[in-house]
Amino acid sequence: MRMEKANAKINLYLDVVSRRENGYHNIVSLMQTLSLCDLVTLDYRPAEHTEIRLSASGNTDMPTDRKNLAWRAAELFLAETGKTGEVDLFIEKHIPMAAGLAGGSADAAAVLRGLNALCGAPLSLERLCALGARLGADVPFCIVGGMALVTGIGEQLEYLPSMQDCPMVVACQGEGVSTVWAYGRLDEAYGGFSSPKAESDVPTRLSALLTKGDFASSKGLLFNLFEEVVPEVQPCVEPLKAAMLAHGAIASMMSGSGPSVFGIFGSLSDAEAACASLKNTGAAAFVCHPCEKYEN
Ligand code: ATP
Repeated sequence: MRMEKANAKINLYLDVVSRRENGYHNIVSLMQTLSLCDLVTLDYRPAEHTEIRLSASGNTDMPTDRKNLAWRAAELFLAETGKTGEVDLFIEKHIPMAAGLAGGSADAAAVLRGLNALCGAPLSLERLCALGARLGADVPFCIVGGMALVTGIGEQLEYLPSMQDCPMVVACQGEGVSTVWAYGRLDEAYGGFSSPKAESDVPTRLSALLTKGDFASSKGLLFNLFEEVVPEVQPCVEPLKAAMLAHGAIASMMSGSGPSVFGIFGSLSDAEAACASLKNTGAAAFVCHPCEKYEN
């Protein structure tokens, strides 16, 4: 038996730069894991036949069958390592779903890390990440955590020192946003990304400022292309950002394809006051902080 943290991620920078012929999009993103997490408990017993069972607490909307990315991660790990047996997964769900926080990817990554550890580490970190990429674009990053510059469709990772520790708030309200829909809207707005965007040095400059803890200077460099299309269908995004800033956030932005919003704060008391006020308006809100890489 083993317990793994499955930490949420935010995008501190997220640009879509081109579209591949197969419809996947190439991105440039600066991702960071946060202390907001699901807890995944795993057990594996070798047996002649494979049976994967998943149960959960917290969010009853989450599928507990094969549709759950964590379930598929267990199946893929056994197939890749040629093992059979009984796998029991229990997910204590805390990360809001379909919110741009990669909750499903984080759970899948936790299962890959956890099963690999329970089985005596048959797969290297590199092979584990390659396996994760078959489940979803955010899974390789979620296997390692910390801060990384993520390119390609999410499979190319350059690990960077984490952003400096600081109080943060993550909040979301209203309906979730389908990532597929959000990419479709960007395709319409950008003519299918037929002309790839020029390379930018902003993500590198931004990561250096965040690592130093110069959040005031980093404010103008935070970027999320999805802010051009998501707030028009999810009217809660702008008020959440405005509330974070009104409560003293140094910077605030939507994460991923939304609708979750994060705020970077200079003091824990400001972050706690912002969180309490957001909860009063009916939002789900959490005080958290950036995390270092997992100890893989
Ligand atoms: P993505 O960008 O991958 O859509 P997200 O953070 O916006 O990520 P998730 O919380 O990962 O969204 O959930 C997206 C959908 O994936 C959900 O609507 C849910 O039905 C499905 N799903 C499958 N497995 C999980 C899981 N373990 N946790 C949450 N959602 C899951």
